[in-house]
Amino acid sequence: MSLVTTPATTTEPVGASWHPVRHPHVDILGIPVTSATRAAITADLLDGLRSPADRCHLLFFVNAHGCNVAFRDAAYARALGQATWILNDGIGMEIAARACGRRFAENLNGSDLIDEGDVLRRCADEGIPVFLLGARPETLERAILGYQGRYPGLIVAGAHHGYFDHDDDDAAREISARIGRSGARVLLAGLGVPLQEIWLARHRSQLPCRLAIALGGSLDQVAGDVPRAPRIWIRLRLEWLFRLFQEPRRLWRRYLLGNVVFLARVALRRRGLYGTTTGAP
Ligand code: UDP
Repeated sequence: MSLVTTPATTTEPVGASWHPVRHPHVDILGIPVTSATRAAITADLLDGLRSPADRCHLLFFVNAHGCNVAFRDAAYARALGQATWILNDGIGMEIAARACGRRFAENLNGSDLIDEGDVLRRCADEGIPVFLLGARPETLERAILGYQGRYPGLIVAGAHHGYFDHDDDDAAREISARIGRSGARVLLAGLGVPLQEIWLARHRSQLPCRLAIALGGSLDQVAGDVPRAPRIWIRLRLEWLFRLFQEPRRLWRRYLLGNVVFLARVALRRRGLYGTTTGAP
């Protein structure tokens, strides 16, 4: 049995005022990945944020590395099952979709959709406050300025660095209380994969915001600590190679070995020889 369930569109409480749009999904190794355009997802996120009080919806991005992590980390696989949206990040996901005769409407990573897209612009325009969680304190300070520079008028109602005890429920309660006091409706969490997804899923019921987005290393990029790949690399779908050149010692295993393992799993699964993220047939 797969630990990854259909995104949480079917478990809305009775009487809830807002339901996410049901976009098509592409099954990538047992993970139901939403296929939608950037404009459609942006509209969904804004609709959810503008609607009356509701639970905290989770937005996650999954790439080939994430799929590999889901194979070995049951907590991460379960966390993915709590997401309202799991979006496809990277060329590996596109190749996997095509291997099953499907295609994604668009590549939707956090940098394009959130750091450089319209979601935070609309938040700025409509006075929807955000809270940043993650990174080292000095990076976080620069990330706040970075977002406010990109989106003039953006209200960063609060922020907390990412180096707290992630297993401590008291720390989670304190951070949730800070988010609540700040009035933020959006939480941008950049703690790295799989920590951010596991932490958000575990504490979702107490998070007082409307939308929590797992952003990986975005705060480092927006802070200017880690450069994003030049446009041409992004257009050629080679952003992962740019990252690999930046930190080869840390990332070679993830990208070189990891991509081969991921594609091998996809090929075997296509032939019915391999299971889902939990090894199920
Ligand atoms: N991070 C964090 N708390 C942690 C570990 C990481 O806030 O306990 C932050 C880190 O500072 C960086 C982001 O998470 O801003 C992504 O971290 P990393 O580069 O390790 O993630 P990866 O690239 O491995 O997904």
